[in-house]
Formats: sequence, structure tokens, C-alpha cells
Amino acid sequence: MSGQKTEVSDPYFPANGDSRYRVHRYELALEYRPGPNRLAGTARLSAIAGRAPLTEFHLNLAEFRIGRVLVNGRAPHYAHRGGRLRIRPAKPLPAGAAFTVEVHWAGNPKPVRSPWGGLGWEELTDGALVASQPVGAPSWYPCNDRPADKASYQISVNTPSAYTVVAGGRLLTRTTRASTTTWVYEQSAPTSSYLVGLSIGMHQTVLLGDPGLGGVPQSAHVPAHLLPQFSRDFARQPAMMQLFEELFGPYPFGEYTVVVADEELDVPVEAQGLSLFGTNHVDGARGSERLIAHELAHQWFGNSVTIADWRHIWLNEGFAKYAEWLWSERSGGRTAHELAVTAHRLLATRTQDLRLADPGRKLMFDDRLYQRGGLAVHAVRCALGDGAFFRMLRDWLTVHRNGVVTTAGFTTHVARYAADPLDDLFSAWLYEPALPPLPSPAIPAKPGYPPTNGGPGKGRRGRTSA
Ligand SMILES: [Zn+2]
Repeated sequence: MSGQKTEVSDPYFPANGDSRYRVHRYELALEYRPGPNRLAGTARLSAIAGRAPLTEFHLNLAEFRIGRVLVNGRAPHYAHRGGRLRIRPAKPLPAGAAFTVEVHWAGNPKPVRSPWGGLGWEELTDGALVASQPVGAPSWYPCNDRPADKASYQISVNTPSAYTVVAGGRLLTRTTRASTTTWVYEQSAPTSSYLVGLSIGMHQTVLLGDPGLGGVPQSAHVPAHLLPQFSRDFARQPAMMQLFEELFGPYPFGEYTVVVADEELDVPVEAQGLSLFGTNHVDGARGSERLIAHELAHQWFGNSVTIADWRHIWLNEGFAKYAEWLWSERSGGRTAHELAVTAHRLLATRTQDLRLADPGRKLMFDDRLYQRGGLAVHAVRCALGDGAFFRMLRDWLTVHRNGVVTTAGFTTHVARYAADPLDDLFSAWLYEPALPPLPSPAIPAKPGYPPTNGGPGKGRRGRTSA
């Protein structure tokens, strides 16, 4: 899409995002009253115009009352319709110019409707929760809603003092005045709008792991009545963190936080530095441990290294699925290859009409995309061998840390680690709908992990054959 003077940035969600400009920082100041579910906010955005002068641009924001809009401190013309705030500055903004946007809005937030149910702000029985993937962010704040437009965030929330407010990032201050408390969080790492998470609830805070031992600070916010089950279910998360740092490289953010909402959630959801689970994911019997691994892995695959648009979603879900298998393999469960055999058997019985590299909006969250994504990663591992595979993964995550990626970028990257061309493998697994045969492991099907320094092996950098 680049080079075209179009505002459409995502073929799956043409109404979301505006590629004519970028936002590099959001400062959101929110007041929320859970009883009446009333939200009032002020957003200050620091942005940069693209290669062409900007006579108008848009933000995505659901149906709130707009109090005021300012661009560089001056009132623009604006219209707010159909979830879009179209803004025409008093004077066009020159190409490449830095500018600020201020928006005041208020109303009763509610989820954005989607084929996958409500997305974004959800009022709970006692509190609220935000899980926006893929297009729920406009349910609570004005944003350039496309995954490639990553920005830092400061989020301040004022709410009755009985509630705990959790957002991704570092808690800067917590100030109580009269009966309300203001929580201020800073997320300095570049963050996609869909990954800005928020929870307002009645929670107990617990620390995971041994903070005295160093490592990534890990905390959790859990309803008091679930604490006994939670401490068993999440006991191995610090070990997962250690494994993933060994396999994928350093955890990309300053801290990792888990919230268990006091309601059931269809699926757990990842946000930046934060994962959200429901009561149904806590059973005291580690019944959802694979999902704990899955959400943690998204911090590398999806959150730090982010897809340029939703066509590439398998790069998030395929790797998060494969991380489940790696955790199983390493923690004494079934090996990744055994799990791949099961997934392959399952997929062989299902309709084969899914192209992994561009599944279409309808199939982007289809269970087959997850399973086949995991299998495609396994096929790459089998082709490269463990040494080259894990070196390739760590390099991928290092080179693209805080950046955005595409499937084509991934295949080009992988080819550098392969002794033989992988075009047929990529074509079969990523671009053709028919299920390829199960890959056979280049290594015995046992827990096999890379030596820390990789070692030479067959997957040296650079193609070794023409
Ligand atoms: Zn996922």
C-alpha cells in the first residue's frame, strides 16, 4: 500500500487507521465511574504528518459526545460519524511536520460490535476490562487504529478508591484524594492501539516468582476468592519466562502483569506487558497452562514484533501456538513433534480452504489458523534443524524488536539460515490451502534445545547453495 495516496491501511479493516500520519505518543487522562459506567477523557496525541501535506486526517473513536478538538492548540473543523473522527486542521499541516491533537470525549463506553462478539471496553459486574484485538480500541479512546502505528502511552485513570486499576507498563504514581484514586501508568515501549489493555476491578495483588532473584518483575491481580487456585495454576509462569528468554531472547518490556477478571472470558487476551484471563481459566488444576504460555509468548510475537496489518496474523498466532508446544516439550509434557502430529491429524479432517499468509478477515481467528500456524513453524524448525532454527528466531526478534513485520519479510529472513532453498516449503505451508504432509523432524523427537551460542550446524547465515 505504501506509495499510494490512500488513507486505507488495512485491507481487512478499511475503516480503521489512517496511514497519512503517525502518532508517536498518547497521553490519556480518564475518569471512570463503574456504577453508571461513565467515562470522560482527554487525549493528547503527538503525531507526525506523512510524506504529503495533511489537509485532513482521521482518528477512530466510537459514539461518544465530543467536547472539544484542538490541532496545534487551534480549533479544526471536524465531523464524528460511524466511529470515525474526521479532522480538517485550520491550516494544512506540511509534509513531515510534527503536530499535536487534543480530544475531549465523554459517554457510556460499550464494546465495538464485530463478527467475534464485542471488542474493547467491557463493563463488568463490578468494574471494567479492555481487550481490543483487533479493532476494539476506539471503544474507549481516539486512536490511529492500525497495528503498524506504534506509540508510547501515558494512561491516567481516576476512579473510586476501592478499585485496582491496571494498565500495561510501569505504575508511576497512585494518588488518593477524597474517595477517588488516580493511577498513572507509563508504557514507554512502542505499542499498537489494539494492545493497550486496561482493567478496573476488585483485586488482590500478588508477586510471582522470587523478586529477590532479579529477572523480569511479574505480578498478578486476582479476585481474592480465586487466590488459592491461581497460585497453583500460575506457579510455573516464572519458569516459562525463563525458558522463553532462553529461546527467544530477553523479555521485551520492563514488567509482565497478569489480570484475572472476576468473570468468564471466551479466551484470554494479550496486551502490551499484560495478559487478561477469566475465572474460567483458573481451576486449581493447571487446566489452562498452555494458554498461560501462549499469552506470555505474544509479548515477543505480536507485541514487541508486530504485524504490519492483519493479513499477517499467523506470525502472531502460529508462534504463540508453537510456544505452547515448546513449553510442553521442555516442562516434561508431550514433545513439540508429538503435538504437531496431533494438530496435523486434526487439520487433515477439516476443510482445507485457509491460506495461512492471508486468511481473510473471516478466518483470521479460526482455530485452523492457530494449528496450521504452529505446524508451519514446526516445518521451518524441521527444515533448519534446532541450532539454526533458534538462532533464526532470536535474530528475528532482535532485528525487529519494537518494529513491524510481514510474512514476506519473515520468509526472506528464514532463507538466510537454510542450506537449501525453502520456496516449496513456504509455498505449501503459507500460500496454498491444501494441508502439506507432516514435516519429519531433522532431529530425534526428543526435547532438543539449542546450545546458547548456536554452533555451526547446517543453517549457517547465508545460502550455501545457489
Ligand atoms: Zn494468541
